[in-house]
This record gives sequence, structure tokens and C-alpha cells, in this order.
Amino acid sequence: MNHREGATASFAVKVYDYQWATTFGMSPEQASAELARDGFDTILIRNGIDPLPNSGVDQSAYLAAAGGKPLPSDRAWTDALKGAGLHVLQTTALFFDPELVDRFPDARPVDATGALSTGFDWYLGVCPTHEGYLETKIARLVRVVDELEPDGLFLSFTRFPGFWENWVPDYVFTLSDQFCFCDRCRNRFADENGISLPAGNLAAQADVILRDFAAEWHAWRAAVIHQAIARIREAVSVGRPGFPIMLNTLPFPQSDYVGMDVRRTVAAQDLAMLSDVVDRFELMTYLQILHRPNSWLELAVSEARALAPHQQMLCTLQVAPLYTDGVHAGRGRAAQISAEEMGAAARAALAAGADGLVFYHWTDFLEDEAQGGHKRAVLREIASA
Ligand SMILES: [Zn+2]
Repeated sequence: MNHREGATASFAVKVYDYQWATTFGMSPEQASAELARDGFDTILIRNGIDPLPNSGVDQSAYLAAAGGKPLPSDRAWTDALKGAGLHVLQTTALFFDPELVDRFPDARPVDATGALSTGFDWYLGVCPTHEGYLETKIARLVRVVDELEPDGLFLSFTRFPGFWENWVPDYVFTLSDQFCFCDRCRNRFADENGISLPAGNLAAQADVILRDFAAEWHAWRAAVIHQAIARIREAVSVGRPGFPIMLNTLPFPQSDYVGMDVRRTVAAQDLAMLSDVVDRFELMTYLQILHRPNSWLELAVSEARALAPHQQMLCTLQVAPLYTDGVHAGRGRAAQISAEEMGAAARAALAAGADGLVFYHWTDFLEDEAQGGHKRAVLREIASA
């Protein structure tokens, strides 16, 4: 469905923690009513069957502060949200699961220099061609859909490895950003393309692939991601034809970085190719993390739409600043996001033609309100406009 003038935009929000219960004392029913009152129609949540690993969302501190107070069950939370008329999308971190990589050590990806990935900060990518890893994830997603009956799945971290949060405008891409050159990936690529790679070490073969077979390499990697999503879609659609899939995608327009098209050539997300297995694309337009202006949203949305004209495009917007200190410092990121700035970014995304917005994340609204802020008021004003 294309965004049309006058069509109602979707308002979604990520709720990946339970602070609404622990810190703010709400029952699942109260939280659901509050989310509906905020103007949201779609809620992206996590579950215990295929849990999101610790990342930017650190569960440990507030859970410890809650002193072991029992959390609502996944089923109770889902039912309360659906009872309030909200669409529930269960989220998976598909190719980000450090515990599962411990179980399948050969799922750890290898970059074009031949180095085994050590990740960055909390992030560790996964080689998307590891069959045991992917099968395990798909089996969990079938259970999630069977047991929790969400209205759809939200696939995050569904790409070749890369900590895109670091890709501020002056970021320089190197061979360390190029994945995956493990034995399995190189052999599969060569076999499926009828290419015989020269004898030699991994880095030498990676050099030949990137120099002489770049087009084939990028197309093959994009097809690997497409195939993984197609398998998930098929597995969860048994008895539920057309079960909706929303995909989290990198936001970078092809024209960024002098036309490098990093979404496709680094992350292997090809929106045109993915159109037959994805219903909605989330463009991760985290403006403060990426140090991009509101005007960049126009490029991000229009170039994505040109690639996938029949799919919905949603822009994700931040409620609070992230990655401003420690290992993340020094990338020019703003230290604050005011309610007015958040509102201006939301209006800019809608004016750029986004079919909807995804806010990250609800807890930031609740905390802002508790501190006397008015971000929730701004949100409600935009959602009801
Ligand atoms: Zn690999």
C-alpha cells in the first residue's frame, strides 16, 4: 500500500522492557490503555521464547531495582494489548544472539581481512549461512507465533554484520566492514555462481571476490538474506496465510557515502528484492545517533520508496539521545533531544511521505513525563492530527 495524501499514518512504538510495570507500576491492561491513549496503533514487544539479547536496552538495572517483583507473562501482555485494540508485533533479533553463537561457534562471521569478528560494544553479528543457527531461530519463531499469537513478526538484525550506529556522515568504510568471508560463505558463493576462486589464503580470496566479482557477491549476499526471510515467512504462515512481516532495515539512501548504497553493499538488504517477503519496512532513521538532519528523511524515504513502491515505509524516531559517551563518544552526536525537536522530526518524516512512525522507545516518554517533560503531549498532538 502506498502512502496517500490524507491516508492515516501508522503510529508504532518499541516496548522492549517492563519498566511500565516495575518502575511505573502499571498492570498490562493499564499500560495498554495508556499506549492507546498516546495514539499508537502498533506495539513492538519482546518475549521469553526468543528473547532479545541485552543491547542498548539493558534489562538488569531496573529489574534488580524492582526486587524480583514478578513480571506479566508474555501471553497476558499480548492479550492486554490486543484487548485494547492494538496490533502486536513480536520482535526477534534474528542475526544477533551471542548465546546462540556460543552454541554454534562457527556462526561467528569473518571479515574481508580474514579476522574473526569480535563485534562492537554489545553487538556481535552472525554469519547468515549457518544452518544450525538459522534453524534454531526459525523453530523459536514458530513457537512464538503458535503460543503467543501476535498479529505479526518484526524481524530485526536481519542482515550481514555491521554496527550501523557508527555510520555517521564522515564514517570511512574499510575491509573490516565487509562480511562474511568464512569458509562456508566463500565456498557457497563460488559453487552457486560457478566461480573457481584461486588457491590462497582467505584474505587473498576475499580480495578477488571484491575486485572481480563484486556484482555477483552483492547479489548473492542479498539473496541469502531474502532466503532467510522467505523461510521464516513460510514457516510461520502455515495455517495463517499472509501472516505479516515487518523488517528493520538500514535507513541509508543509496546516494549516501558518494553512492555506495551501503544498505545493500554492506548489510545486504536489497529492498526491491525483499518486497515479495516483507509487508512493511522500518527505516532506522535514528537521527541523533546517525548525526543526520531532519532534511535527510526526505532522501531516506524517497529512495527507499523508489525501490519498494508497494510496501509501507515507516521511519523510526528517537525520543531520547543515545550513544553519547564511553566508546561511542566523539561522533558529533547531540546530547539532548527536546520535545520540540522530537515533534519537528516526526512532522518532517510524515511530510517526507513516511506511511508511519515508530518511536524508540516508550519508556523514554514515561521517564520524560515523570521528570515534568511534555514529550507525551507532543506525541499525542501529532498522533491525533
Ligand atoms: Zn559466513
